[in-house]
Amino acid sequence: MSKEETKSVDPLSLIRPKIRDIKAYSIDHSPAPVILDANESPFTPPRKILERMLVVMAGTPMNRYPDMEAMALRAAIAHKDGAAPEEVLLGNGSDELIFCLILAMMEPGERILVPTPTFVMYETIAKSLNMEPVTVPLAENWELDLEATLRMIKEQNPRLIFLATPNNPTGRRYPVEAIEAVAEAAPGAVVVDEAYIDFSAGGSYGLLYKSRPNVIIMRTLSKIGLAALRLGYILADKAVIENVNKVRLPYNINSMTQAAAAEALRNWDQFIPLFTKVRQERDKLFAALNEISGIHAWPSEANFILMRVEDGAAERVFNALLEHGVRVRWFAGNPRVGDCFRVTVGDPHENSMFLAALKEAL
Ligand code: PMP
Repeated sequence: MSKEETKSVDPLSLIRPKIRDIKAYSIDHSPAPVILDANESPFTPPRKILERMLVVMAGTPMNRYPDMEAMALRAAIAHKDGAAPEEVLLGNGSDELIFCLILAMMEPGERILVPTPTFVMYETIAKSLNMEPVTVPLAENWELDLEATLRMIKEQNPRLIFLATPNNPTGRRYPVEAIEAVAEAAPGAVVVDEAYIDFSAGGSYGLLYKSRPNVIIMRTLSKIGLAALRLGYILADKAVIENVNKVRLPYNINSMTQAAAAEALRNWDQFIPLFTKVRQERDKLFAALNEISGIHAWPSEANFILMRVEDGAAERVFNALLEHGVRVRWFAGNPRVGDCFRVTVGDPHENSMFLAALKEAL
């Protein structure tokens, strides 16, 4: 075919219209020495554990596929959480498990329900899989509006409901009674996303699926100092795990992550002081923020704090923080939290850099 005969194709026409319309999950890459926008832990695992993780990673046979069922890692998780290994399913981050759950549990066009504002990936993934996200606004104080939620369940018949608790970005933990009421009313499954549970005084909600098989517990290692490993997991009834496992792509957890995460989880008790440290820093940061006029911060049970910048100053303050080398998450354009920042709790030095920059910016 000569050059003139080559047919011209608009590459965009190759993409499903629904996908074209989705806003890609993006993060700010502006260079900044103080990064407080991704809810990572400021602390790496204790040195001894880190060294052992590196040793087991180095011993991984590079020419072999990973253990497809990740038996050792699932056993380590089961042991830590008091579950059975058959009740554990692993994902390349919990994002992948959100994808798998939707794929395994829903038919195209069915609805997922999310109380908003919350983690955006529930809606984004649902849309990419041809599902219909429906939202129910959280109450003014970011508490679950139980009455409205139950009404939406009745009206919309959602196959899946995602409850992040403590919630991102509000930091609010929902009472177990509210979760149980939602699970009782739900026509399908309820995912209790415990991504931030280690920073919450109440601790985990426990294995709720033992008494309510439509509840799925979701966790991640991303917030506790192991984000680089990309490991999330769900705990659920054995029959749920067995079937969601059918849509999981083979070998989704690489050998190094399997080995290193198992090593970390076997030494879980040594991570706990790091959570305590983050909580102490969070509480100090919260107290300091509420001393600053022009800022309203909400109490948080997570490793971040949601704060409102008053008097329409969010954009100016965000840019000034960046100029001072501090990156936080700004929800520009969001109807409920467009004038709010979510600031991850850093180490003491990072937190004081942030506070100093904020005061100067205001
Ligand atoms: N759930 C919630 C509530 C989150 O905030 C996040 C990360 N921002 C995730 C899940 C995803 O975590 P990961 O894919 O890193 O496990």
